[in-house]
Amino acid sequence: MTGEREQVKQLDLLIDGKQVPAADGRTFTVLDPSNGTAVAQVALAGKTDVDQAVAAARAAFTAPEWAGMRAADRGRILYRIAEAIRHQSERLARLESQDVGKPLRQARADVEAAARYFEFYAGAADKLGGTTIPLRPGLIDYTVREPIGLSGQIIPFNYPLQNTARGSAPALAAGCTVVLKPSPEAPLTPLEIGRIALECGLAPGVLNVVPGDGETGAALASHPGIDQVTFTGSVPTGIKVAQAAAANVVPSVTELGGKSPVVVFADADFDLALAAVVASAFGNAGQTCSAGTRLLLQRGAEEFLEKLVAHAASLRLGPGLSDPDVGPLVAARQRDRVLGYLEMARAEGAVARTGGGAPADPELADGYYVQPTVLTGVTNEARCAREEIFGPVVTVIEFDDADEALRIANDSPYGLSSYVWTRDIDKAMRLAEGIRAGQVHVNATGVGTGVELPFGGYKHSGWGREKGLAGLDSYLQTKNVCIGFGSRS
Ligand code: NAD
Repeated sequence: MTGEREQVKQLDLLIDGKQVPAADGRTFTVLDPSNGTAVAQVALAGKTDVDQAVAAARAAFTAPEWAGMRAADRGRILYRIAEAIRHQSERLARLESQDVGKPLRQARADVEAAARYFEFYAGAADKLGGTTIPLRPGLIDYTVREPIGLSGQIIPFNYPLQNTARGSAPALAAGCTVVLKPSPEAPLTPLEIGRIALECGLAPGVLNVVPGDGETGAALASHPGIDQVTFTGSVPTGIKVAQAAAANVVPSVTELGGKSPVVVFADADFDLALAAVVASAFGNAGQTCSAGTRLLLQRGAEEFLEKLVAHAASLRLGPGLSDPDVGPLVAARQRDRVLGYLEMARAEGAVARTGGGAPADPELADGYYVQPTVLTGVTNEARCAREEIFGPVVTVIEFDDADEALRIANDSPYGLSSYVWTRDIDKAMRLAEGIRAGQVHVNATGVGTGVELPFGGYKHSGWGREKGLAGLDSYLQTKNVCIGFGSRS
């Protein structure tokens, strides 16, 4: 049972408050990853469309409707957007599930997270004050935190709703305007958020949405009319985007990939850890930047491995709308990439304790599925342990003590997130202190939500922070004002 499907849609770009076709008339097809059928035909933004979106956002940035608005009123609009998202939660969740392939309950959680981003930053909009700096009598010095301007935002396919909200809500709270480019594999809910924002009173041109491909993204990242770039995606693309931004002396935030370690000591609460590892590694079919996909298991904790293998083998695959445990991957190219990694892992000596390929079930044959897979028999040097596979695949590596666990955890080009499971406070603190990653979770989960917590990478996982109050910093710049008065200046 797949449940009721959304009908095939024709969708335009959202520029200056209007839904418009691409200037050159191009479109692309969005496929349902559970069966490869078309669900939408979407306008593909080209360079001319990006130019128009940037022009609209530039004009909106200084227009009195936006620039002259009280900060508290900006916050009110963001609150309204949060409520409107909640009001339409089931429709948005179904759209997200069908577009990306994720199980419906995960899509529902994403809708709530998207609403929370708008709500969280709504409350911050009127609290972005500066400081006064004491110098001497006759001088007053203060700082003002001003919006940086026009934010160009480029997002990936895996959490389109969350990423749209995560970038645009703090930018809007700060008083910026936004041109957002969604992934060609997941453009539906970002367009919906743009439409909802307009309905909630956001002035035309403040939030523009231009779905497109890599060329569209490159046109936005290198555009001389933008003031800041927020990029979420893979490392190779992130490097290109950062270089393009730097060429215009424009700052960027790069939220890139990960290969996050999950350290499970023999004294851990296995049941709690198991639920967390399964949700992290197999949720969204493993297509989560912060997924705990490198399981570091203490020798003596083999029982945990047996439980994990049994649990992974029992997970039910199916179309996202049927709310299975694991849905399809977003696209055939993503499925093929993961299957390629599984082949490579076998050549490296890895053993698939469960899974290891595409499911045999003929009912799933038209979708982009990969079985939840647990790999053993390799060291941390294997490519399957070092590179981001971005599928439902966990690589298990053994260690003896906390020192070795820490060494292996940090022996990675990435540093996005990390997870530690132990009942021993000394081991927990040793790892929390020593792990080089933007987030450490001890006996706790947190995969991609946690709107209040700063999130971002060390090393190749990128720079800058999104989420939390720290996420506002990218959209603000500090002006210092020094005033002398009286006869003493
Ligand atoms: P991707 O790098 O292929 O694409 C990301 C976005 O960049 C897409 O919108 C794409 O169209 C665009 N793009 C492609 N080429 C471009 C170019 N030359 N210039 C500008 N934009 C360009 O990534 P993906 O496959 O969509 O997403 C998966 C990756 O995203 C994984 O590596 C994952 O870890 C990462 N990710 C990171 C986070 C985070 O917060 N750190 C969150 C989600 C996903």
